[in-house]
Amino acid sequence: MQKRYMFTPGPTMVPAEVLLAEAAPMIHHRTPQFSRILREVTDGMKELFGTEQEVFIIAGSGTAAMEAAIANTCSPGEKAICVAGGKFGERWAEICDAYGCEVNVIEPEWGRSFSVEQAEAALSESPQARVLCITHSETSTGALTDVEGIATLTRETGTLLVVDSITGVGVHPVRMDQWGVDVLVSGSQKGCMIPPGLAFIAVSPRTWDVIEGCTSPRYYLDLRAMRKNLQGKTTTPFTASVSLVRALHKALEMMREEGHENVFARHARLAEATRAAMRALGLKLVPENPVNGVTAVWAPEGIDTGEMTKIMRDDYGVTIAGGQGHLKGKIFRIGHMGYVSEEDLLVAISAVERALRELGYEFEFGSGLAAAQRALFGEA
Ligand SMILES: *Cc1c(COP(=O)(O)O)cnc(C)c1O
Repeated sequence: MQKRYMFTPGPTMVPAEVLLAEAAPMIHHRTPQFSRILREVTDGMKELFGTEQEVFIIAGSGTAAMEAAIANTCSPGEKAICVAGGKFGERWAEICDAYGCEVNVIEPEWGRSFSVEQAEAALSESPQARVLCITHSETSTGALTDVEGIATLTRETGTLLVVDSITGVGVHPVRMDQWGVDVLVSGSQKGCMIPPGLAFIAVSPRTWDVIEGCTSPRYYLDLRAMRKNLQGKTTTPFTASVSLVRALHKALEMMREEGHENVFARHARLAEATRAAMRALGLKLVPENPVNGVTAVWAPEGIDTGEMTKIMRDDYGVTIAGGQGHLKGKIFRIGHMGYVSEEDLLVAISAVERALRELGYEFEFGSGLAAAQRALFGEA
């Protein structure tokens, strides 16, 4: 018998209650029943985004919301500053480039967090930039960005702050309005603990003026159509992903029951325990300022993490992620976001230890687990 566990930084494990909600018989998307669900889900997402603005729900993966962010704000020829300190930051630059923006790519070393000082320098170098695109939680390196600090700079300028918080929302507290973020995007298969297929986007009041004047082409991802349909008729411009929206309805109910502060605190504890375990194994973390949804770790010399993650997945039933881009084979990433309990985490750490031992790494077997146990449950 093999039981399957997913400790990947998206998609993440989905609670049975959520799967059952998703499996309910179909209802039509242009009905009062669906509009009621859509309204409640939108309001729930507004809480997680920390905004009074509408959160639009798009049928598409997280990247659809990233593309919507650019298609609606950055006109061809306008300047975009994109911070590419990892795979997902690079995606901002690729999207801006596809929309004909003049892209200024800033490339912090992968694992380094883009700082407020670096943001200040970039903004003073390109004062006419239409957007500054950053990644709140860079899933490919596990590095956290100080969104609040950077927002204090953009608030004073004409540059919109566009934030990918796809693995931030539901994991870290997000205060879009209070911080002064202009565009915030997220996705469903990470902290929201539902399957892939929904993307979320909210924009600040001042962003609407830019959206109206933007000359980039857009149709499916036109935020004006999304606003008109949601505000006028509590509906979506095109067929909503009815089953996923119902799944999210259940997931948001579970998160509210746990209490949002408790959800964030649980992620912080899981992250702290994972870091403690990896240090106890003699391993080094990739980011200097780590996020709470995923832990990225340098593999020991001579161990290929492609092989390591394959052994874990196929032989133990425990899926974690390897590295992306130039970190492929060199790092492994343990996802602990969404539907992950403290007990679950010990399964992940146990499997990491077994795979490392199988691949010949020398360490005291069980020392990672012991460190995690202590971090989670304290000294006896
Ligand atoms: C998962 C993820 C995305 C979006 O990826 P999709 O495959 O389009 O859902 C974007 N940014 C970050 C930081 C992510 O973790």
